[in-house]
Amino acid sequence: MIEININGLKYNVEENMTVLEACKNIGIEIPTLCYDERLEPYSACRLCVVEVEGKKDLMTSCSLKVKEGMNIETHSKKVIKARKDILDLLFSNHPQDCLSCEKSGDCKLQDYCYEYGIEKGSFAGERKKYPIDYSNHFYSYDPNKCILCGKCVRVCSELQGTNAIGLEDRGFDTKVVAPFDKGLSKSKCVSCGNCVSVCPVGALVPKNRERYRHWEIKKIRTTCSYCGVGCQMDLLVKGDKIVGVEPAMESPNNGLLCVKGKFAYSFINHRDRLKTPLVKRNGKFEEATWDEAYKIIRNKIYEIKDKYGPEVFAGLTSARCTNEENYLFQKLFRAVIKTNNVDHCARL
Ligand code: SF4
Ligand code: SF4
Ligand code: SF4
Repeated sequence: MIEININGLKYNVEENMTVLEACKNIGIEIPTLCYDERLEPYSACRLCVVEVEGKKDLMTSCSLKVKEGMNIETHSKKVIKARKDILDLLFSNHPQDCLSCEKSGDCKLQDYCYEYGIEKGSFAGERKKYPIDYSNHFYSYDPNKCILCGKCVRVCSELQGTNAIGLEDRGFDTKVVAPFDKGLSKSKCVSCGNCVSVCPVGALVPKNRERYRHWEIKKIRTTCSYCGVGCQMDLLVKGDKIVGVEPAMESPNNGLLCVKGKFAYSFINHRDRLKTPLVKRNGKFEEATWDEAYKIIRNKIYEIKDKYGPEVFAGLTSARCTNEENYLFQKLFRAVIKTNNVDHCARL
């Protein structure tokens, strides 16, 4: 452990930490737009700057390691002025349409502009208007709202390992490129949506998103049942409807999902879903009560089992059931029917 001074108070912190990590552990909030603890420091947004005694320039706390006896100011006048200037510049080069933006209420740029008192961009003027890219099946990219934090590109290469996207051009023309404008057939993108999950603003957003505001939803933690990994995720629920999915920042997926976990949830509220069991009578399916259906299933099972034994049965269950339902299903086959012939579509 080493001793450092932050905002006039002494703290013992672990060696090799960054100033940002040390402050986070102590409970000092430092704003960031491009930082993600799972990624290499990038120092692109420069919002995390702090004042360090003996240094003329402000330093980015995400890439600055702590040193014995360091004197740090995280919210001095100079630091606040720099953060305001950065936010002012970002917001000046931004559409500023929070009223109609899908991300409103869950946008870090909006939050920080509010916190630092940036009401409109002082340098706002003529801006280039780029077309929104809808070429991916599951999400869209709006270069006009992109703040070039690089999180999507880094998550795709450092965590997802796909390397499908990159930043192209320089200055005001910089934007995220591919899979969008190269066409999906030429892209390496696997549509996992991990870039969408980390975008701090409304640049990368899911397509066909149900209309909701952040404060209208409940987050319900659950386990993805599409395969055996057991990724943790939050279902975003508005009323009694699932309107989105976010990866949970915990083991085993640590904030990542695949295309199924992230986007394949619309079957849950789909209008074609059966609401009652169907029983075939005279060659035609007819709606029935659960009591009727269970009675038929039970009688048929006993009839067949008595005649041919338990091994003639096989049960196939679905990734679109919950873990708990799948557990009960195998229990029924093993303990009641007495066969191990049971499988699941996710056992690849
Ligand atoms: S991305 Fe954020 S700041 Fe930009 S318009 Fe949307 S809500 Fe507002
Ligand atoms: S959806 Fe996944 S693979 Fe495609 S660009 Fe985003 S992170 Fe990369
Ligand atoms: S699309 Fe989003 S995550 Fe990617 S660089 Fe732009 S603002 Fe950052």
